[in-house]
Amino acid sequence: MACNCIAEVDAKLAERNTRIMLPIMLGADQTARPMIVTDQIETGRGKKKAVGMFATFCPFCGVSFTQEPTPC
Ligand SMILES: [Zn+2]
Repeated sequence: MACNCIAEVDAKLAERNTRIMLPIMLGADQTARPMIVTDQIETGRGKKKAVGMFATFCPFCGVSFTQEPTPC
């Protein structure tokens, strides 16, 4: 885990009955990344389902989720 922001923000949001939407990560990379919530433009039969997007950087502190943090 690159940083602890998600856990900290989640704890604050819990007071407001809210939580960050985190996808279940499959495979070797188990880093918890917040999901960008998307919406379908057109709905109905034959329309493609909306895809999920993952944040590459922490939206709270800007740390990269994909690299090990470099020691100062
Ligand atoms: Zn962070």
